[in-house]
Amino acid sequence: MKSLIECRDLAKSYRNGDLETPVLRGLTFTIADGECVAIMGPSGSGKSTLMNILGCLDTPTSGTYLLDGRDVSDLSDDDLAAIRNEKIGFVFQSYNLLSRTTVFRNVLLPLVYAHTSRAHRETAASKALRTAALPDTFWSYRPNQLSGGMMQRVAIARALVNNPSLLLADEPTGNLDSKTGESVLAALQALHRTAGHTIILITHELAVAEHTGRIITIRDGLITEDVTVSRPRIAKTA
Ligand code: ADP
Ligand code: MG
Repeated sequence: MKSLIECRDLAKSYRNGDLETPVLRGLTFTIADGECVAIMGPSGSGKSTLMNILGCLDTPTSGTYLLDGRDVSDLSDDDLAAIRNEKIGFVFQSYNLLSRTTVFRNVLLPLVYAHTSRAHRETAASKALRTAALPDTFWSYRPNQLSGGMMQRVAIARALVNNPSLLLADEPTGNLDSKTGESVLAALQALHRTAGHTIILITHELAVAEHTGRIITIRDGLITEDVTVSRPRIAKTA
């Protein structure tokens, strides 16, 4: 299968004054189009730093990153933003929804600047909400009227609305109890299975990582393990 992500010797360090702190210290891996992969590691191991690079929110200090065949290691902020809009959907632990805006509009907002008709945007938002398994009774609610699990499904729908090639989820179940977390994982698994999205799930928990088909473990900025999960756990829907 063709690779969607190809990283070679990827390194990132942060500079504070004269002090340079290496965080990623040479990561080489590929992720195929359509894979569902977990990146697992303890807190501080560099997971979010890696997600920022994979998501074109930041660039590596050295090494190369090819996304869909294109070298994105050294692009300008504007070029990175264009790639994000076109190819990447993000889900964060803290949902990052607009609280004064309805669920439907939260999902539709990423398309407001796209050159598409209103009818098209509304169709895309409805489709994304259905894919994220959010019942339509909730679409006119505001996020603070919803449970954490429902809010995270809205965030998943928003991430899907522009039909990205890559969905990046950083600790998406981190704020949820285990039962609600399972239902969010079920929503992610369903869209991987049915829509074939490439998903990268970032987590510090093995029990979460085991819901994917492959676990890449990082520790102190290096890959220590990269294993196929022969039987991914099936998440229970609520
Ligand atoms: P994780 O997501 O695995 O918890 P992070 O990627 O957030 O890890 O952080 C890895 C290390 O990099 C931590 O030691 C953190 O303090 C450091 N770090 C993260 N972002 C910055 C930054 N902007 N400037 C300096 N150090 C940072
Ligand atoms: Mg993190």
